[in-house]
Amino acid sequence: MPLVTKTISEVREQVAAARRAGRTIGLVPTMGALHEGHLSLMRRAREECGLVVVSIFVNPTQFVAGEDLERYPRDLPGDLRRCDEVGVDVVFAPEAEEMYPPGDSTWVEVTGTLVEGMCAPHRPGHFRGVTTVCARLFNIVGPDRAYFGEKDYQQLKIIERMAADLKFPLAIVPIPTVREPDGLAMSSRNVYLSSEERKAAAALHRGLRAGEEAFAQGERNAAEIVRAARRVIEAEPGVRLQYLELRDAETLEAVERVARPAVLALAAFVGRARLIDNVVIGGADRQCRG
Ligand code: AMP
Repeated sequence: MPLVTKTISEVREQVAAARRAGRTIGLVPTMGALHEGHLSLMRRAREECGLVVVSIFVNPTQFVAGEDLERYPRDLPGDLRRCDEVGVDVVFAPEAEEMYPPGDSTWVEVTGTLVEGMCAPHRPGHFRGVTTVCARLFNIVGPDRAYFGEKDYQQLKIIERMAADLKFPLAIVPIPTVREPDGLAMSSRNVYLSSEERKAAAALHRGLRAGEEAFAQGERNAAEIVRAARRVIEAEPGVRLQYLELRDAETLEAVERVARPAVLALAAFVGRARLIDNVVIGGADRQCRG
């Protein structure tokens, strides 16, 4: 079993001992309710690092008022079993007061084009919560490598920016999206879906594939690619799109024509679950399908 701790001081002790032994440190930040998507990050960290630290923390500052903070799925015993299977060394599962003690008043926020579109306008303050908690985790653990999923594409780009701008001496390692056999991106929030909603949710990835296909057929006009995806998704009455956008894969600026890699990204409500997904088009296809 991994060593499980709620305290910053104990994580630091473990990391310091590993450093003295010459081991590299890998960090996988999560909110728990671990599934195969998380496990692929953890396995990659296990392959590449001497000490693997997984954080499990449902970070309150990244939930916007009215979102699912209270009912977000939590399963620490199951999570620890999964961490054990992968050979994780340390699980850091702090209480909110450990991360945000009374009097705490510092935020870390990325500005500019990365936070102009996609999820940002729909979840005001969300990415500020993400960057704030990740900056703290980076300072607590001091990893050489930190692992993030491409499923949360905007988050990945924002964390890359934050780590570069704040000169964190670490590599951000992106990991392809792990999907269910029908293409649905794995997510802790998929447990919110009834069996009927679960079927409807497969339309999200079908739509993204239709956009990809339009590009493969030679379409370069962004509005047409988005339309091809939208047509497929809107044919599924159980899905309510929040946004569907094609943006530059690095800057996340809106694009009119695809001349460089671009990300076709969406958020949608299926029942009470808000799900996100994306595919990168016009670049090396690293999305995993299966
Ligand atoms: P979360 O617990 O949802 O905050 O996710 C923790 C990390 O796992 C983030 O870096 C996510 O992008 C990543 N992740 C979540 N779902 C998947 C997935 N289906 N495939 C790959 N990575 C994922």
